[in-house]
Amino acid sequence: MRLDVVTIFPEYLEPLNVSLVGKARARGQLDVRIHHLREWTHDRHHTVDDTPYGGGPGMVMKPDPWGEALDEVIGSGEGEPVIVVPTPSGRPFTQQLAQELSERPWLVFTPARYEGIDRRVIEEYAERHDVREISIGDYVLAGGEAPVLVMVEAVARLLPGVLGNADSHRDDSFASGAMASLLEGPVYTKPPLWRDRGIPEVLLSGHHGRVERWRRDRALERTSAHRPDLIRELGAGTLDRHDRAT
Ligand code: SAM
Repeated sequence: MRLDVVTIFPEYLEPLNVSLVGKARARGQLDVRIHHLREWTHDRHHTVDDTPYGGGPGMVMKPDPWGEALDEVIGSGEGEPVIVVPTPSGRPFTQQLAQELSERPWLVFTPARYEGIDRRVIEEYAERHDVREISIGDYVLAGGEAPVLVMVEAVARLLPGVLGNADSHRDDSFASGAMASLLEGPVYTKPPLWRDRGIPEVLLSGHHGRVERWRRDRALERTSAHRPDLIRELGAGTLDRHDRAT
């Protein structure tokens, strides 16, 4: 998968060199290219922002450097990228959307600063390309670089061969398997006794069916406590008799 990021803070993307994403890059599973937006400016001060039409506080990112940058980045590859525009006014980023993006060969991210990018840029590219305006949550950050790190990590771990164990994300919260739309329950590891706290007996039983049932019950409890909205959205056919008792 190819990932391009156009930003005025290339150094903000340095975490893409470490851990899971860094290893995927080293193995050639991810081709990450970071571009400095100011390279597409032509004035002495490398200006990327200006005052908003209509007045009001803050600055708006100018369309000229973004247009030149996107033309060059998009023109440098073959095929059709998805252009991901991080914005608090976008569609919510979900596990389902991460899955959808992980199935595309090329993503171009446009993290903004200030009050965002001149609207005409989004409209211009949406006429010719697949543009997704995406929010990572109902809060406002100073820039789109942290949302890019969030989205890239969520997408990268879904790529075939990136996680050591391909089953690792099967039962994740929000995954689409048997635990669809449920939050993951508690997890434990050795030692069996820590500060007088043991682990649930059933996990030592070796009884696969009972362990699965226990995991599902804990997932139901946790989802009811933290995200009752997800329980309400579960289809009538998704809860069995045991689920209802939980
Ligand atoms: N005035 C804008 C609004 O209220 O929608 C907020 C602009 S914010 C200060 C600057 C940039 O940070 C945004 O253009 C976007 O790239 C990024 N950003 C901030 N919060 C975000 C979020 N929750 N999800 C995705 N991107 C976000």
